[in-house]
Amino acid sequence: MKVVEPYIVVEKFDGIKIMKRIERACRTCYRSEGKITEDSYKKLLKNCITRGHESVLEHEKITVRMFCDIGVYKDLTRHRFASFSIESTRYCSYDKDKYGNEIKFINPSYIKDEKTYHVWEECMKEIEKKYMEMKELDAPTDMCRLILPHSTGAEVTMTANIREWKHILSLRTTKHVHPAVRQVMIPLLLKFKEEMPEIFGDVEYDTEFDKNDYAKLTMEEF
Ligand SMILES: Cc1cc2nc3c(=O)[nH]c(=O)nc-3n(C[C@H](O)[C@H](O)[C@H](O)COP(=O)(O)OP(=O)(O)OC[C@H]3O[C@@H](n4cnc5c(N)ncnc54)[C@H](O)[C@@H]3O)c2cc1C
Repeated sequence: MKVVEPYIVVEKFDGIKIMKRIERACRTCYRSEGKITEDSYKKLLKNCITRGHESVLEHEKITVRMFCDIGVYKDLTRHRFASFSIESTRYCSYDKDKYGNEIKFINPSYIKDEKTYHVWEECMKEIEKKYMEMKELDAPTDMCRLILPHSTGAEVTMTANIREWKHILSLRTTKHVHPAVRQVMIPLLLKFKEEMPEIFGDVEYDTEFDKNDYAKLTMEEF
């Protein structure tokens, strides 16, 4: 068994380009394309957002890839306007060389009590042992997956338009949300705030969540 940290990889994007493309689409409404200047998108986006004219945000999308636990994607897949491709526990057989002949569990670093963490760790070891025993008995992966816990790590590719990202990030970064979800969603929100402040600047989140528990975020060309 391997205990691994969650991470999030964001498709490389240029926030200013995204905001300018949204401005261009939005100006169709008023045929005010002639008013576009270097920074006219700032005022336009602010006006749209304060007036609830948010459908314009749907013209642009961003894809992210995460390695997170099953509990995280159970929550995220409730969002109906996002698209998902998720590592299948029906087809991915963790006894195979490809997976290092082991199950990866996401480190619940937010379990600060040592004794509780130890119980969790022992439980994961036992689960992996039983999974491999079932495999040795030739049980199909479909059956073995029945014993996989929420902590199992899985890769997720998720795409959403900017309007839906704003909605998801405003719901999934508060203190009411499971810490495993906050671990990946807060760093993503902070990245979006940095790159597109005119759109994400007003989204509130749990500022008291331990920064040491944030998932590592990188940007890459997909
Ligand atoms: C803190 C927290 C706790 C939660 N606890 C639970 C729980 O205990 N049990 C549980 O089952 N779920 C729970 N949820 C999930 C929650 O109820 C939603 O299913 C989930 O957050 C998706 O949100 P949404 O419907 O706003 O989003 P999306 O599917 O992302 O939709 C975006 C928006 O589109 C509109 N929309 C979409 N579909 C419809 C529709 N059919 N009719 C009208 N408007 C629509 C709504 O305005 C919606 O906000 C929880 C969520 C949070 C954030």
